[in-house]
Amino acid sequence: AEWVAAHGGTGDRLVVLAGPTAVGKGTVAGYIRDHYPEVKLSVSATTRAPRPGEIDGEHYFFVDDAEFDRLIETGELLEWATVHNASRYGTPRGPVEQAIAAGDSVLLEIDIQGARSVRRAMPEATLVFLQPPSWDELVRRLVGRGTEGPAEQQRRLETAKVELASADEFDHQVVNHEVSEAAQKVVDLMRPRKGRH
Ligand code: 5GP
Repeated sequence: AEWVAAHGGTGDRLVVLAGPTAVGKGTVAGYIRDHYPEVKLSVSATTRAPRPGEIDGEHYFFVDDAEFDRLIETGELLEWATVHNASRYGTPRGPVEQAIAAGDSVLLEIDIQGARSVRRAMPEATLVFLQPPSWDELVRRLVGRGTEGPAEQQRRLETAKVELASADEFDHQVVNHEVSEAAQKVVDLMRPRKGRH
């Protein structure tokens, strides 16, 4: 009973991992997917095209605009956002609710706007802000990955500055010095009803 009192809510089983561009959210989430199979990773729907190696239903559900509109209209998304002025991304509601009901831990790797929406929809969720070791390191990671041109990099860094200023809205801060260490810290915040005790 003591344990249930301490861990019985959904808060420590529904964890949202958010953070600025290039901080390594996707890498940390991928590490958790590969090394902590007991954590259920929410699979988002997106209107962007798959990248090489991405599997439909595993990394994302790749849908077209009409299907995304339908998901919004039927209330099937827990939250959704247009990210970086480009594609739309959203969290399917059903799998999250089912996993929580089954006593599993669920991790959502989404952007900052999405994290705020989850807070409104499920106030008991635990929100984790992934921090870069420093501003200069964030710039290095963004420039270093070379997936955006200079104008887009500049735009993302401006957004990142605003987002970093809102970090204290989150329940926890984890600094992504090193992926496995950051992943461990995120998992430590999750307390599944199953498999522990
Ligand atoms: P990428 O296209 O690189 O996989 O993801 C781009 C951004 O979309 C990342 O910041 C990621 O966190 C965010 N994202 C992925 N899925 C969702 C989602 O379901 N909802 C929201 N709000 N953002 C998401």
